[in-house]
Amino acid sequence: MPVTHKKGVLDLIGQTPLVKLNGLVPEGLHVYTKWEWLNPTLSMKDRIALYMIEDAEKRGLLEKGMTIVAPSSGNTATSIAMVATVKGYKVVITVPDRTSLDKISYTKAFGAEVVLCRSSCHHDDSDHYIKKAAMIAYSRPRTYLLDQYNDLSNQHAHYYITGPEIWEQTDGTITHLVVPAGSGGAICGVAKFLKCKNPTIKVISPDVKGSVYGFYKKYGFVSKMDGNTEIEGAGKKNIPVNMDIDLIDEFVPVSDEQAFSMCEVLAKQEGILVGGSSGAAFCAAQVVMKTMQSSDIMVVVFPDSGIKYLSKTANLINSN
Ligand code: PMP
Repeated sequence: MPVTHKKGVLDLIGQTPLVKLNGLVPEGLHVYTKWEWLNPTLSMKDRIALYMIEDAEKRGLLEKGMTIVAPSSGNTATSIAMVATVKGYKVVITVPDRTSLDKISYTKAFGAEVVLCRSSCHHDDSDHYIKKAAMIAYSRPRTYLLDQYNDLSNQHAHYYITGPEIWEQTDGTITHLVVPAGSGGAICGVAKFLKCKNPTIKVISPDVKGSVYGFYKKYGFVSKMDGNTEIEGAGKKNIPVNMDIDLIDEFVPVSDEQAFSMCEVLAKQEGILVGGSSGAAFCAAQVVMKTMQSSDIMVVVFPDSGIKYLSKTANLINSN
């Protein structure tokens, strides 16, 4: 009998499982979690790294011998470093200094150069990690700036791949989608596909401290928000091109404390170790569950693994 096998690590990206959660869910409700942390580098960002790099290759913008420069709040950094290594590109990543040491080390392990930028600076400041990536790309020879915030191929990856995957996995019965939003690529790409199939599907995201999204959705303009969340990957201080706010029906406010204690509950009661944005998504999901009927089907996307934050969350793991 021939051995069945995948061709390589890139073939393992996507097709993550949907897992029904019974604990933490009121009886009779159907709530599924999408385990994006089972992608090769333990996050959903493997999907956009592969899609965006291949899209740039097809458009003739990225060729052998070039260096990919990318801003990332952490997971995209690791994903790009992994995909780029397999494809033979050099990589420079700029990250805010709140990024967990685990993610930075993981990215460096694939050979990427990582540039730390101040988390606290304004998004127009030249030290901000997104601006810094553009400056590096501009100042070095033969670079390609892979900008997950402003390049729509991020959203397209989820529109063409993740959205159809969720539709098929639920047999078209999904009624509620919950995804934490950073660049907006994942929630908006999936939402756009699902709403084309069924416009009544409700799309929900947690609204985290310091993010402009919830306010913008409610009042239609961006206002400066105080504070910064410690939840990596979630929220934004401005509206990236990949965020299409009209596709999101509701932002549910979730505090850092609520999100991180939900991570602890998920680990200790359900055996699922996920990152803070997954905890935030599940907190928002629990609020929406109060309005659900037994015929409804909710999918909550868990973007990454809690193993990426062990240096930050040691007390969560060590406490009894
Ligand atoms: N959660 C985590 C852990 C992330 O790394 C990201 C990406 N920044 C998100 C959520 C949000 O995903 P997106 O950028 O597609 O909105």
